[in-house]
Amino acid sequence: DSDDIPVVDESRFLIRRSPEPDLQNIDRRHESNTTAATPIGADLSTCDDCLREIRDPSDRRFQYPFTNCTNCGPRFTIIQSAPYDRARTTMKSFAMCPRCQSEYSNSSDRRFHAQPNACPECGPQIWFAWSDDEVVNPSSPASQSHSTSLGIKSFASAINEGRIVAIKGIGGFHLACDARNIETVQRLRHRKGRFDKPLAVMVSDTSQAIAFAKIGDVERRILESAERPIVLVPKRHGSDFDDMLHAVAPGNANIGIMLPYSPLHHLLMETTSPLVMTSGNVSDEPIARTNSEARERLIGIADGFLLHDRSIQVVCDDSVVRPAGKSLIPIRRSRGFAPIPIKLSTAGPSVLGIGGEIKSTFCITQGQYAYVSQHFGDIGNFATLETFKENIAHFQKLFRVQLDAVAADLHPDYMSSQLAKQLAQSLDLPLIRVQHHHAHAASLLAEHALYTNQPIIACCFDGTGYGTDGSIWGSEFMIADLHRFNRIAHLNPFAMPGGDAGIRRPYRIALALLQRAGLDWIDEYPCVAACPHAERQLLQRQFEQFHYSVAPGSEVLGSEVLGDEVLGGEVLGSAMPGSPFSSSMGRLFDGVASIIGIRQKTNYEAQSAIELESIAAPSIDRVDPNEYAFDFSDGQPTLIHYSGLIHAICRDLRRGTDRGWIAAKFHHAIANMIARTCANARLCHGIETIGLTGGVFQNASLLTLATRRLQEQGFNVLTHSIVPPNDGSIALGQALIAQRKVRST
Ligand code: ZN
Ligand code: ZN
Ligand code: FE
Repeated sequence: DSDDIPVVDESRFLIRRSPEPDLQNIDRRHESNTTAATPIGADLSTCDDCLREIRDPSDRRFQYPFTNCTNCGPRFTIIQSAPYDRARTTMKSFAMCPRCQSEYSNSSDRRFHAQPNACPECGPQIWFAWSDDEVVNPSSPASQSHSTSLGIKSFASAINEGRIVAIKGIGGFHLACDARNIETVQRLRHRKGRFDKPLAVMVSDTSQAIAFAKIGDVERRILESAERPIVLVPKRHGSDFDDMLHAVAPGNANIGIMLPYSPLHHLLMETTSPLVMTSGNVSDEPIARTNSEARERLIGIADGFLLHDRSIQVVCDDSVVRPAGKSLIPIRRSRGFAPIPIKLSTAGPSVLGIGGEIKSTFCITQGQYAYVSQHFGDIGNFATLETFKENIAHFQKLFRVQLDAVAADLHPDYMSSQLAKQLAQSLDLPLIRVQHHHAHAASLLAEHALYTNQPIIACCFDGTGYGTDGSIWGSEFMIADLHRFNRIAHLNPFAMPGGDAGIRRPYRIALALLQRAGLDWIDEYPCVAACPHAERQLLQRQFEQFHYSVAPGSEVLGSEVLGDEVLGGEVLGSAMPGSPFSSSMGRLFDGVASIIGIRQKTNYEAQSAIELESIAAPSIDRVDPNEYAFDFSDGQPTLIHYSGLIHAICRDLRRGTDRGWIAAKFHHAIANMIARTCANARLCHGIETIGLTGGVFQNASLLTLATRRLQEQGFNVLTHSIVPPNDGSIALGQALIAQRKVRST
């Protein structure tokens, strides 16, 4: 699954023509506006023609921050209801001047029926305000162009003084600061409560990015695409940008870069590039949408505000993609992509897939299309949950959908599961519960329409997913189609002391792995040294109480519709919420990162895995790929044992082997384990197609290694190129499984 991306001369929308921007070309079923049932387009970055106008002093749109045309500009984020027409957008409050009106009505004009059409005379305007300024909206600006140049000048001087400025953009607010001012970047991290998590950087153009990042053809094309996502690219060290690289993405071999995508960005970047541009919110809260929301919520973070008077109807975070060889891994599918529908293999009932918990999206199907929402983040946060609910209602209205069913995860504590239950009850609809990893597998099948009617071997690796036995799954090999799955292999479960709280202290997992491998807790191991003595004794006692028993292998129906209670019958009835056992691959990464001393405490999701991959990447091609190995025991399901692997890692550690080498050999061991498990499954079940899905496959090194190994053995390998492998795709998978279920009852 590593096709070349075709070179596209025409990368822009033309009137009444399908868009063919780069990323969408990777899979042509990623549908355009015009073929979908209800044409609502995604927001698109400023086109070259509009850019030329805002840079031309003789043009009437010179330096106008809201310049757009039919080939570019906001869509999804300004649309209030369908059909798409100016009167049903947030532009309705701006009456077009005669010149704009004539462009709008002239069928040969580039702005014919450009709904957000505007100019300095009649359109929205920007202004700058300090956080302690009384006046929020200047009642009578001297003139539009005066207000613009003043706003940009004030912004630039605030940034140069080391201030943090909130910028109102297309799909919400960003927090911006000078990326090269390390002190300010640290202050932003501190105020936002975001300690090590990477911050995205906006640069004026690709050539500036080349100074501190390795940009190949794939990277350049996706950076410059009309969707303008954040692109995760390898850092390039050895310049005077090194301090910046460390400050914006500590412990990470990659940096997230994006190019300007609105005229306002282009104007700002002329004087202030590179800028940190991170979403305008406090940790898990929703991104600020209105001027007053921003002033309220960001008051302790932003020193100043660059505001405008065009309302944002729906928030839409920046999208994120990661190149892996010649293909791209979607990491977050949001601005530029949502709500473009995914075309399904067949038409089906209308269902709502409500998704997971963190990296939340929802999905609504209609006919042969699946509308996957923008990214919402952690709906465990109350305000984010409210935004999520409002958007579900907005989508139903926008696409005029009458739901036939609601689908949710099995996890009893997910906010999404509770919300789904409420919705199903109030609308008198069946609630369909779908196992987490089955949903991952189904989301991959949704992308690969050819395979929706035959079972595949799905390798679903992630951090956390509620299993049918009540334990935490996350290294699941399953024979899966849209109706059912059969769990054929997984990691031998290990104890996860402290449950979810333990996740932030990976040394606890490391001690569990050592104990499972029969290794003594000696201070020589960084994970042991990191654990306070009292906690060690407590853990020791806990481990002695745990009785490891193997969850019974079970074939579970995709999901049963039983009013509001599932459940795949007897198997789920005895679920034990809060079980301390886990077969999570994400936790194995945490444990190994801790054992070799990479990270003992985490402050953002997947931090250990990201740092382990970062340290492994340079050594991947230099180590013996077969030095570490997993063991297997017969049974149904097959158990995959890591004791030998942990022994080998500890031996290397005691010998003083380079940690990058250990990490690289660990990556190879997993790829080999995947290949071996799949080869065994092929012998038993005769299946040649493997799907790689789950958050662990955001790891480009592992994805590339595993794909290569499987292809060497003649397997057909399916990977994600439309929706992310992480929980952003759970909603799509749920919806697909629920569609089949509704149809078959
Ligand atoms: Zn344009
Ligand atoms: Zn005008
Ligand atoms: Fe997951």
